[in-house]
Amino acid sequence: MTNMFERELDRLQEQHLMRTQVRIGTAMGPRITVDGRQIVHLCSNDYLGLAGHPALQQAACEAMNHYGFGSGASRLVSGNTELHEDLERRIAAFKGSESAILFNSGYAANTGVIPAIAGEGDIVLSDRLNHASIIDGCRLSRARTVVFRHRDMDHLESLLRSSTSSRRKLIVTDGIFSMDGDIAPLPDLVTLAERHDAILMVDDAHATGILGKQGKGTAEHFGLEGRVPIQMGTLGKALGSFGAYIAGERNLIRYLVNTCRSYMFSTSLPPAVCAASIAAFDILGSEPWRREKLWNNRNRLAQGLAARGISIASSDTPIVPILAGSSELAVQASQKAFGQGIFASAIRPPTVPEGSARIRATVMATHTEEDIDQAVRVFGSLNDEGYFSHGRHR
Ligand code: PMP
Repeated sequence: MTNMFERELDRLQEQHLMRTQVRIGTAMGPRITVDGRQIVHLCSNDYLGLAGHPALQQAACEAMNHYGFGSGASRLVSGNTELHEDLERRIAAFKGSESAILFNSGYAANTGVIPAIAGEGDIVLSDRLNHASIIDGCRLSRARTVVFRHRDMDHLESLLRSSTSSRRKLIVTDGIFSMDGDIAPLPDLVTLAERHDAILMVDDAHATGILGKQGKGTAEHFGLEGRVPIQMGTLGKALGSFGAYIAGERNLIRYLVNTCRSYMFSTSLPPAVCAASIAAFDILGSEPWRREKLWNNRNRLAQGLAARGISIASSDTPIVPILAGSSELAVQASQKAFGQGIFASAIRPPTVPEGSARIRATVMATHTEEDIDQAVRVFGSLNDEGYFSHGRHR
């Protein structure tokens, strides 16, 4: 048996697909210490710099002093506290929805909610570049899953037209696509869903906290609040905490409480985590400069890279992909950047399609202009050395 795994691992190594972890030795932030060296941290999803914010720490400590740490059971048994309920109310108020339900992670939300909504006899229409947790949710659902070309609304419409025999239709899309940093065409998705009597679900894992004037996500960005019936968001990215939610109508949420397996059969979030999330929502409201600074930094990076002749494909957000093409080139570029003080990881298949391995740089509100300029210099010189000219755009 050992040999079987060894052979697989050798194959991954040969294909430059072996994954390893970097060990972080400091609190999360725009600069972190790895192996005793300080480097610019350009690959977290902590967009607003809240993961290391003292208010989150303090809220968590106070909750721990009261509740201890673990929640001890699932929500429906005894793992439900006032903090879980306060957080759900807070999320619903933030999203302008009737109700909300917490999940332990975005992964748990997607793999739980999709099968709760769609099953045998139903159809799920899913964007080709949707996150792995959506793909897995579709697989678990046993519904017929049809993948539409990335952001291709003509393709989606033709699939909707030919799916009239399905009992229920669910369209599911990332709000901000996690590896490309482009934004779903929500106005068209809403129109198509309404026209074809389909349910629309948007995964705002990356959009929550950063997109829209108040950071409410993709629907706010497009002025479509109230038109997306199932909105998923995560608390472990821009909110700097942990967990996820679905926001929607009261009956949808009641239905999920009663049917969603990843909600029903899993220990609930520790109360301290809920307290930290509530503190993060407070900061979202009271420190709008973070969102502004994030976008300034993002634009500085995008413009700097453009000036050095580097394409960032269709990215419109703080997720900035720099295509290398082969996994080998992407890994080498990431290692070289690391050596020059920039931590931006290489993203390879199966996370992205074959031939589109890349560096995925993510910007934070708390990066300084000098951090961004250093990244531009490093990527610029890697580009001059030929690392970024081989990418196939999708
Ligand atoms: N959806 C998308 C689009 C994501 O990028 C991620 C995280 N990478 C998830 C869902 C899963 O969220 P979590 O990390 O909370 O499990």
